Amino acid sequence: DASVTAGPTADAPGQKAVAVMTSGGDAPGMNPNVRAIVRTAIAKGCRAYVVMEGYEGLVRGGPEYIKQFSWEDVRGWSSEGGTNIGTARCMEFRERAGRLLGALHLIEAGVDALIVCGGDGSLTGADLFRSEWPSLLQELKDTSKISSEQFTRYQHLNICGTVGSIDNDMSTTDATIGAYSSLDRICRAIDYIEATANSHSRAFVVEVMGRNCGWLALMAGIATSADYILIPEKPSSSREWQDQMCDIVTKHRSRGKRTTIVIVAEGAIANDLTPISPKDVHKVLCDRLKLDTRVTTLGHVQRGGTAVAFDRILATLQGVEAVNAVLESSPDTPSPLIAINENKITRKSLVDSVRLTKSVAEAIHAKDFKKAMSLRDTEFVEHLNNFMAVNSADHNPPKLPQDKRLKIAIVNVGAPAGGTNSAVYSMATYCMSQGHRPYAIYNGWSGLARHESVRSLDWKAMLGWQSRGGSEIGTNRCTPEEADIGMVAYYFQKYKFDGLIIVGGFEAFVSLHQLERARDNYPAFRIPMVLIPSTLSNNVPGTEYSLGTDTALNALMDYCDIIKQSAASTRGRAFVVDVQGGNSGFLATNAALAVGAQVSYVPEEGISLDQLSQDIETLAESFETAQGRGRNGKLILKSKNASKVFTPEVLAEVITSEAKGAFNAKSAEPGHVQQGGLPSPIDRTRATRLAIKAVGFIEDHQEAICSARADDEEFDPDDSEISATAAVLGIKGSNVAFSSIRQLYDFETEIAKRMPKVIHWESTRAIADSLVGRKKVDAK
Ligand code: ATP
Repeated sequence: DASVTAGPTADAPGQKAVAVMTSGGDAPGMNPNVRAIVRTAIAKGCRAYVVMEGYEGLVRGGPEYIKQFSWEDVRGWSSEGGTNIGTARCMEFRERAGRLLGALHLIEAGVDALIVCGGDGSLTGADLFRSEWPSLLQELKDTSKISSEQFTRYQHLNICGTVGSIDNDMSTTDATIGAYSSLDRICRAIDYIEATANSHSRAFVVEVMGRNCGWLALMAGIATSADYILIPEKPSSSREWQDQMCDIVTKHRSRGKRTTIVIVAEGAIANDLTPISPKDVHKVLCDRLKLDTRVTTLGHVQRGGTAVAFDRILATLQGVEAVNAVLESSPDTPSPLIAINENKITRKSLVDSVRLTKSVAEAIHAKDFKKAMSLRDTEFVEHLNNFMAVNSADHNPPKLPQDKRLKIAIVNVGAPAGGTNSAVYSMATYCMSQGHRPYAIYNGWSGLARHESVRSLDWKAMLGWQSRGGSEIGTNRCTPEEADIGMVAYYFQKYKFDGLIIVGGFEAFVSLHQLERARDNYPAFRIPMVLIPSTLSNNVPGTEYSLGTDTALNALMDYCDIIKQSAASTRGRAFVVDVQGGNSGFLATNAALAVGAQVSYVPEEGISLDQLSQDIETLAESFETAQGRGRNGKLILKSKNASKVFTPEVLAEVITSEAKGAFNAKSAEPGHVQQGGLPSPIDRTRATRLAIKAVGFIEDHQEAICSARADDEEFDPDDSEISATAAVLGIKGSNVAFSSIRQLYDFETEIAKRMPKVIHWESTRAIADSLVGRKKVDAK
């Protein structure tokens, strides 16, 4: 959605100056955001500035605090945690006098536009600054601090916000820069704690950050299948939460769980606004349940370290969009805030977003919790309902009446991908709370056809699956036709399945197509069937996102960070990294964006000799300019299918030979490491969300297909209502949607290439290239 195109040259008349600052609490991803803003501004022919130490730097002013930055100054910042330009809490900026100084200093530095990366406080300050700008300017002129020319030249200050905050508390955006990195740190810590809790059969109370927002606690609760969470948005009386928590923990223990994890948000409160501390929770667990209980406060570890891939990419795309927004903005356009909704970078009104965010805190303080909840985005509410349904629900009695309870089968197809187990776990536990019977088909279609590998899923046996990598129920690439579709139908008939959820990649897509087409011959397939895409290649038509891509991206990114460091230490070295992904360049492109790789070669483009020699030339220039700066390790990411001739080894040899001693290249093969170890929190929580939606799909489509199930005369597979009962569940732009497999397979898929016809991430390639100064040769 955002794009960078080269603008006028650096010294063009009327050249604009864009400044960026980071403010409020630091968040992983701020550095990639600054990098993208600085480089995009320069690529668009502007001067780029950074304001050091947040608003403190504006108030102090001068070249020490408002610094012009070059392309090279942000080299390597994609991989660095925190914020290298500093952040501070600045009391003076809260006063008009401080803001007056800020305005003067910006004008002195010649800045036209300011991009603020921070939380709601920082963006409130930014909005106030912009609304006051005309009066500040007037006062500076009246007191002769600025000239008439300056007064005319700086009539309007364009301001734009990118939300950098680990709390994810900004309304109108699904994610803030840093939140998923923080969630990653929390989940890792809880995964570690889980092991020791299990060893001693202990309870742990874990405190996480979040003053007015329980997003981190909620998402960590889902991702680690915690027993209970306490968040500010949904408080109850002290009696109620204590009883509810004890009840749930007791039930979990009685079903055989050895560990208890309760996550408490920093701002957790009871409905009379009394804070709930981890100590309070500890006391209840010890006194009432006699559990051996420990408290862990994660503290600043949650802010630490390098950003996860999602945050790096989000920060980069939003940085590009922020520069576009300030350059397009006119005096009449409201200040924008750069948001993300599902998978789409969007612009929102900064004032409205800040106002809405503040009203959540106000509603909480006014004890209007219903309103607080309604002001959170719908996804937050959905996640909370999911948490309750999967982790805390009563299985006895289940929610649905007897006649609505279904037998739902789940199968994994294709290579393992992060989040596959989470989807199985969530689907099964949610089914149990609804009253359905979840079945697993072990070892894919071949397992079913050859060994009748069907087992009803058991709650206790699945403990820990939410956070486990690989596929617990086993997976392979075999399709129903390859396995024996007649036998598959026979077992569907035998077990009387009412619905099917397939979790997998392109073979899973083909499987769904085969089953849907076979409905004519086999009434057993006349049931709602849904595919949750799960593959690191992210090549399933009908979705922009498959489970496992985030885990794979992080695994590849971590690998690349390490070898980039090695390359930088060796001086003058480039690594050519072999990237998986079949015919899809998604993984290579996004990893290149996340690690700042110099080049990515993808199957969609191939490798031409012209482009290769251009890339070697650019590499040589880049090594030359980076001389003596230390950060001169370079990466070239090559999708395996980008070229059969240019293997990573051959590419490395060609590059080394062409570099004529100026630098050298080596190949590196992360191989199956790219499937990742533990699934990332994004894959875990998305798996839960999609699994619950998939069960809902089966419930909702029973009626449409039920009556046609037994009656051959009546059954019309071409009826649109019937064909809609076999669908792919995908994320498309800013929506989560079901698309019928017929429509996708017949019209939106390049079957031979195993790819969707439309590549949704094409614009990302241009951004990845432009942020490293790669020159593209026109394809002949
Ligand atoms: P986090 O979400 O990490 O807390 P934040 O941006 O909300 O980040 P704050 O401490 O609230 O963090 O704000 C950062 C800075 O923004 C303040 O120190 C102050 O300089 C400025 N600021 C905040 N609120 C205002 C305001 N109402 N008017 C002017 N400036 C403000």
